[in-house]
Amino acid sequence: MTATIIDGKIIAAEVRAETKQEVEKFVGLYKINPCLAVVLVGENPASQVYVRTKSKMAKEIGMDVEDHIKDTNISEQELIDLISQLNNDKKVNGILVQLPLPEHIDSRVIIDAIDPIKDVDGFHALNVGRNSIGGDLLKKSFVPCTPLGCYLMLKKSIPNLVGMHAVIIGRSNIVGKPMAQLLLEESCTVTTVHSKTKDIEAITKQADILVAAVGRPLIVKANWVKPGAVVIDVGINRVENPEDKSKTMLVGDVDYTDVARIAAAITPVPGGVGPMTIACLLRNTIKAAFSQNQK
Ligand code: NAP
Repeated sequence: MTATIIDGKIIAAEVRAETKQEVEKFVGLYKINPCLAVVLVGENPASQVYVRTKSKMAKEIGMDVEDHIKDTNISEQELIDLISQLNNDKKVNGILVQLPLPEHIDSRVIIDAIDPIKDVDGFHALNVGRNSIGGDLLKKSFVPCTPLGCYLMLKKSIPNLVGMHAVIIGRSNIVGKPMAQLLLEESCTVTTVHSKTKDIEAITKQADILVAAVGRPLIVKANWVKPGAVVIDVGINRVENPEDKSKTMLVGDVDYTDVARIAAAITPVPGGVGPMTIACLLRNTIKAAFSQNQK
């Protein structure tokens, strides 16, 4: 078997095109542009790239973007004050605080300072709770962008997820846990494994759907995977390029070449989950804009 490639670039372009249509509808109805505020603290080069890409893509579909770039020494209270100002600014529909924050700032305090109706990353405790309860509350809340992107990709490969055994490797609040909640909501049988799990391969090998969100380059080999499984690789790991040791390259958590021999479908890295995350951020932002204006 050779796996079908689940192309994140193509699916993300579809999500952005649908979101652009929603933006046009919003502008037609309310005569204002939806607006995303992006907060970046410090000079982490990866974060700077992410923020630039998010801003560029938001502008491309007709959203206004406010960048708030802050010095690494900003105090927690100053950041809370900025969030409070953005919460009260009627023009701002979505607030994204780029993580990680410097060590002297408690990320949980900052995330929970965001008004949940503007929490387009879906990390606020209220949105996490609503996602966990599911049903109508899930529909009204914001689902974190990376798991939402994985979910939309999965639906392209498996329209009916009911009864599938999904195994998630990783239990972070950003990816693993919300991914498990989403698939449980779809009536999958969900198992989450992590660094303390014993005999991990025995569990992953039972998966119809395998989602790897580990942060360990190429840890998932073919002998971890059931033939015919659908494999979603969330990992983004920068490693030395074996063909030119002076250079680096990006790889996922899944050994793509090995696993693609036996899987039914697989996401590549790069070009898989990555583009979906930003597309889902834009999708959440227009959802926020509509819900704040439809009162
Ligand atoms: P994280 O917070 O570090 O969580 C990693 C999880 O993997 C933890 O639950 C950890 O278990 C588990 N783990 C670590 N080593 C393991 C092992 N040897 N066997 C089994 N489980 C193991 O990372 P994250 O934020 O979820 O991100 C995961 C990966 O996805 C990273 O490569 C990150 O760069 C990438 N990512 C990509 C996107 C995107 O847009 N494509 C977005 C977010 C993250 P414990 O809980 O027991 O420590």
